[in-house]
Amino acid sequence: MTLSQSDITRLATLPVRRGQLLIEGRWQDGENGESEVLSPIDGKALTTLALASAADVARAVASARAAFEDGRWSRMAPAGRKAVLHRLADLIGKNAGELAVLGVRDNGTEIGMALKAEPGSAAGTFRYYAEAIDKVFGEIAPTADNVLALVHREPVGVVAAIVPWNFPLMIGAWKIAPALAAGNSVVLKPAETASLSLLRLAELALEAGVPPGVFNVVTGPGRVTGEALGLSMDVDVMVFTGSGATGRRLLDYSARSNLKRCYLELGGKSPNIVFADAPDPDVAAKAAAHAIFRNAGQVCVAGSRLLVESAIHDDFVFALTRATEAMRLGNPLDLATNIGAVNSLAQLDGNLGFVADATREGGDIVTGGKRALTDTGGYYMEPTIVTGVQAAHRLFREEVFGPVLAVTRFGDEDEALRLANATDYGLASGVWTANLSRAHRMIRGIRAGVVHVNTYGGSDITVPLGGVRQSGNGHDKSLHALDKYTDLKSAWIQL
Ligand code: NAD
Repeated sequence: MTLSQSDITRLATLPVRRGQLLIEGRWQDGENGESEVLSPIDGKALTTLALASAADVARAVASARAAFEDGRWSRMAPAGRKAVLHRLADLIGKNAGELAVLGVRDNGTEIGMALKAEPGSAAGTFRYYAEAIDKVFGEIAPTADNVLALVHREPVGVVAAIVPWNFPLMIGAWKIAPALAAGNSVVLKPAETASLSLLRLAELALEAGVPPGVFNVVTGPGRVTGEALGLSMDVDVMVFTGSGATGRRLLDYSARSNLKRCYLELGGKSPNIVFADAPDPDVAAKAAAHAIFRNAGQVCVAGSRLLVESAIHDDFVFALTRATEAMRLGNPLDLATNIGAVNSLAQLDGNLGFVADATREGGDIVTGGKRALTDTGGYYMEPTIVTGVQAAHRLFREEVFGPVLAVTRFGDEDEALRLANATDYGLASGVWTANLSRAHRMIRGIRAGVVHVNTYGGSDITVPLGGVRQSGNGHDKSLHALDKYTDLKSAWIQL
């Protein structure tokens, strides 16, 4: 959708409601009180957020369970569920400007990107899974003639979804839409610093006709609200996007409770590999800058390790620096901004710590490296390029989740592949080459869930997104995502 600057300015002055919990279709306060929500744009208070206690979480799970068992949604005819989810997609579209601006005020993503990636993508995701409802069904297995073997696909029951702050609506919809489409009940826990647009989405879900209790939202800190969901004895499936540290905790909670299945979408340290025969190095340089600096680097698939063939290294870094310096860092509500705010002060401090360690370890800062626009009161950081980063350096190994690019040179294809795979992660990657055979060798050789060739970051709801190794398991998006939200049940009937 398109929005004029004056529309954005007007929407940004709308008062923001207090964030409450949604349990059994009713908005309510949290037992643990509330916390202040600060906007990363200027560091000022935006509203308050309800803090759910373990008892609040238990009530949300109980409400989801009761709704699932009585069939108000799980046994609704597929055409009925489909109509409701289409209505929800319509409402997201109708309120897209408000949702996008509210989300930006909460999490700091630049508005141009938020408009596309947040309500725009979420509405499309709800439509996609609404349409899948009556097109994905069971099977009759090819058994002996005197047997009828049916393979049913059933909803799993209660799904808990814990999501991060970088793209709350988009990532939230990737989980909520297929879970609801399959007939499950959902308890959602948004991130503390990006709950507001998801609370508004929940309001729209009620308006669209999702029955009370089928979609519940609990807000609050991960170590209280999230932990209570993780330890619940009545959640059947946990779906999560966030850091590896939290992913590990969720597996532990599962082991300590009811062995709920956990699907984890975790971080990355994705290699973007530029060979000397890249078709158009200027295009590659611009794409490499956008691959790491959009949304201030707070993108799970960000191309955060740039591997450049030695023969073109210096020229390429020059073009990359020019492309980076042409990106505009500023107020994320300004349509001209390419790089918005860092989500929180803690995240900003962490980013600066990475830069300090990188220089200590021998990296050279080519551009950036500092906090910016401090007088706004907001949390901004200059886009930062560090060259001379070696495989042993912290900046090569650990995810920053900020606007910091590690550049490493390589001699030949074997070394490029070795460096690409010299990581615990395996989420995304990019390869720039005009050599078709080399492109295919790299696609086979790189251990990652996604390989982009002569582009970086393309995606579509029809294409699965997920990682290997410590980037997680399971996939969001595409019809494959429905596997997480359905169980197979076999019926063996003797004729
Ligand atoms: P995070 O793990 O700190 O938080 C994610 C969510 O988990 C939040 O809702 C948080 O409240 C909750 N949480 C935190 N501690 C918890 C606990 N002990 N128990 C239960 N819940 C808990 O991650 P973040 O900083 O919000 O997000 C950034 C991370 O997410 C990065 O590592 C990024 O790469 C990753 N990410 C991955 C993808 C993907 O698709 N693979 C997409 C976006 C972000």
